[in-house]
Amino acid sequence: MFQAFLIKYAEIGIKGKNRFIFENALRDQISFVLNDVEGDFHVIKDQGRIYVEAAGSFDYEETIEALKRVFGISSICPVVLVEEYQWEDLTKATGDYVEQLYGNKPMTFKVEAKRADKNYPLKSPEICSEMGSYLLSRFENLTVDVHQPEVRIYVEIRNRAYLYSQNIPGPGGMPVGTNGKAMLLLSGGIDSPVAGYMIAKRGVKLAATYFHAPPYTSERAKQKVVDLAKLVARYSGPIQLNVVNFTDIQLYIYEKCPHEELTIIMRRYMMKIAESLALESDCLGLITGESIGQVASQTMQSLLATNEVCTLPVYRPLIGFDKQEIVNVSEKINTYETSILPYEDCCTIFVAKHPVTKPNLKVIKRSERNLEEKIEELIQVAMDSVEKIIVE
Ligand code: ATP
Ligand code: MG
Repeated sequence: MFQAFLIKYAEIGIKGKNRFIFENALRDQISFVLNDVEGDFHVIKDQGRIYVEAAGSFDYEETIEALKRVFGISSICPVVLVEEYQWEDLTKATGDYVEQLYGNKPMTFKVEAKRADKNYPLKSPEICSEMGSYLLSRFENLTVDVHQPEVRIYVEIRNRAYLYSQNIPGPGGMPVGTNGKAMLLLSGGIDSPVAGYMIAKRGVKLAATYFHAPPYTSERAKQKVVDLAKLVARYSGPIQLNVVNFTDIQLYIYEKCPHEELTIIMRRYMMKIAESLALESDCLGLITGESIGQVASQTMQSLLATNEVCTLPVYRPLIGFDKQEIVNVSEKINTYETSILPYEDCCTIFVAKHPVTKPNLKVIKRSERNLEEKIEELIQVAMDSVEKIIVE
């Protein structure tokens, strides 16, 4: 029945030049998610509206499912296009549409009309009242309620008529690309993919960095991170994933520093390298999946210690979330099943039995002096050998 979708978006803050940027990013992101859907789609910007039109047959459910992943969409309205829209044809088409959608069930309704084609013989208020009368005469169970109708029937006259009535909620947020770019530290866990999703929802394009420690972490562990990046990219659009070989740095820290400080020192080097990669690719911040107190490396003291190596802002959208709340989001965005696959990650390999939970920055810095001889060189080697994967 439907051949098109009207895309509604929240208009707050998108006046003037911002409106263009917002609408273009929304259009691009809609095209991106529809690439994966069977059908030939056109995304059209027209007089402050965005429409998706399908030429020929397409998969309705899949289309809705894809549009629900586009940040910036507040709702999706499936539209029936009426090519023959002389008044007689239009009333019949509208009646048929109401019948298919609602049968003859008892409900209150209101017709909302908009006449963009000023040559159409009826004006908007006339379309509303005439169409209302027609529907009342055709369906005995309908009652008009102009204030709080259960159902609104929209009739828009443009180069043809557009009928719609349903509002399917979109994800909200802002179109990706309207708010700069940030570097996600992406591990194989539950938290960091959720963190990336949440920042992307605010319009931020993502890049990602994964620290890999072969042979201590396997190819399968790396593949799992690539798979997670792919799942996040369904919402965020393409992600450049940097895979950093962290083995030698980790072994060097293991050799030179007190074992209970390994995790925290390792995390500091991860942040430092991620920041360098971020600056190389125009990122304006870092993103992690940390939440206060979740593990030893996420106490307030540990966060202070890892944060201290960065000058870029570090965004931690999960900071106040409980684990179950994070799990709920990961289930919603479909990363959970992949995240819980049991492959080791490099944080879990070199962990001490009793890591410090309240690291003292002075003490940590003193330990790091043991690394002075070789660490800069190892970082350089790691930076020079980064594997860059475009994930989409
Ligand atoms: P996650 O579920 O995201 O793995 P976590 O609960 O395991 O998080 P940590 O291991 O302390 O917590 O890691 C905290 C954050 O540091 C992660 O959310 C992620 O952003 C980053 N991180 C940890 N390990 C890696 C890694 N190997 N590569 C890239 N980033 C990492
Ligand atoms: Mg982890």
